[in-house]
Amino acid sequence: MYNRHAMKVLLKKLIGAETTAEKGELAAAEIISAELGQSDIDCRIDSWDTNRANLIAQIKSTGRRKALLFACHLDVVGPGETKWKHPPFSGVESEGKIYGRGSADMKGGIAAIVTAARQIVESGVKLEGNIILFAAAGEETDSCGAKRFIRKWDGIPRLAGVVLPEPTDFEVVTAHRGMLWLKVKTRGKAAHGSTPELGINAIASMKTFLNELDTYKIQVEPHNLLGSCSMSVNTIAGGKEINVVPDECEIKIDIRTLPGQNYKEIISDFGKIFAKLKQGNPQFEASVSLVREVGALETDSNCGFVKDFCSAVEVSETKAVGFTTDGPHFAALGAPMVIFGPGKPDICHKPDEYIEISDVEKAVEYYKNIILKFLV
Ligand SMILES: [Zn+2]
Repeated sequence: MYNRHAMKVLLKKLIGAETTAEKGELAAAEIISAELGQSDIDCRIDSWDTNRANLIAQIKSTGRRKALLFACHLDVVGPGETKWKHPPFSGVESEGKIYGRGSADMKGGIAAIVTAARQIVESGVKLEGNIILFAAAGEETDSCGAKRFIRKWDGIPRLAGVVLPEPTDFEVVTAHRGMLWLKVKTRGKAAHGSTPELGINAIASMKTFLNELDTYKIQVEPHNLLGSCSMSVNTIAGGKEINVVPDECEIKIDIRTLPGQNYKEIISDFGKIFAKLKQGNPQFEASVSLVREVGALETDSNCGFVKDFCSAVEVSETKAVGFTTDGPHFAALGAPMVIFGPGKPDICHKPDEYIEISDVEKAVEYYKNIILKFLV
C-alpha cells in the first residue's frame, strides 16, 4: 500500500525536476506519469517545444455521476537572487518540513492529489464519476498549458466541479481578482546627446505619460470580498548610451481586475490619454500592448457544489485571496470552481519556501474525502 515515505520521495523528486520557465515541465510530468503508472492509472503527457508539458490522467468510472477535475500546475517561479538556507531544488527535509522552490506552490498539492488518487484506486472503491487529474505548464508566466488543455482536449466529461490544489492553508477559496499586464512604449528620435534639440526624448515622453497616469483612476466599483482594482507600474527601461537621446522607453504595468470588469476599457482609456498628450505635444508617440490577461474568479459560495465541498473538508466559510490562478481559464468548462490545498500562501515565490509534511498528509485525507463525497 502507498505510504508516507513514498509521498515524500515523490515531492522531493518533483522539486528536483526544477520546473522553471527555462527548464520546462516535461521532467515533472514524466515523474508523475511513472508514479500513476504504478497504480495502472491511465495517463497522457502532451509535450511541445522540447521541454514544455501538460499532464492529463483520468480514472474512469461507471459515469453515473459527474466527474471532478483537479487542476494543478507543474511550473514554478525562479529561485530569485537571495541566498537560500538550503539549495532551492534539493528538497531538503528538516524538522518536519520539506524545503524547495515549488514545495508549497504547488508540488505539495500535486503530491497530495496523486497520492490520494492512487490510494482510492488501490482501495478498490467503485467510482460513479471520473477523477481527472490535470497538471499544466506555464501557470506562472502565460497560462499556455491551461489554454492548450481547453483548446485541445475534447474528452472532458460533464463536471461536478473543478478543484485547484493551490496553497490556501486549507481555506476554501472561491474568489480572486484577475490580472491584466500591459506594456506601454513611447517612441522618440535618437540624436547625439550634445544636441538633444535635434531628437525626441522617449524617456521624457514617458515622464509625461506617467504624470498623467497618476491622475487616472480605473472606473469600477469596489467588490465586497476583493476590494478595489489596483494598478502598479513595475518595470521601466529606456535609453542605451549616456550620450544618445533615447528613441524608446518602455514600462510594464500590473493591474488587478475585479469580476465582471472589461479589461478592454482600460486599454481604450490609455488610448485616450495618448491622444490627449499628443494634442498638447504633436511629437508625443506611444502605444499600449497586452502582455497577459487572466480574468477574475468568482464562484457562488451558496451553490450546491461549494456547500458539499465545504462539508467534505469541514470548513464553514469561504474566502477570497490576493493571488491569481489558472482557474478563470477553466470557466469555459462551465463548472463551479474552488481553490483548496496545503501550504501557506504567504511563503510562495519567496526564498526558503517550504511545506509542512503533516500538511501534505492532511491534504491527502481531504482530497480522498472530496472524491468519496462527489464520485462514489
Ligand atoms: Zn500556484
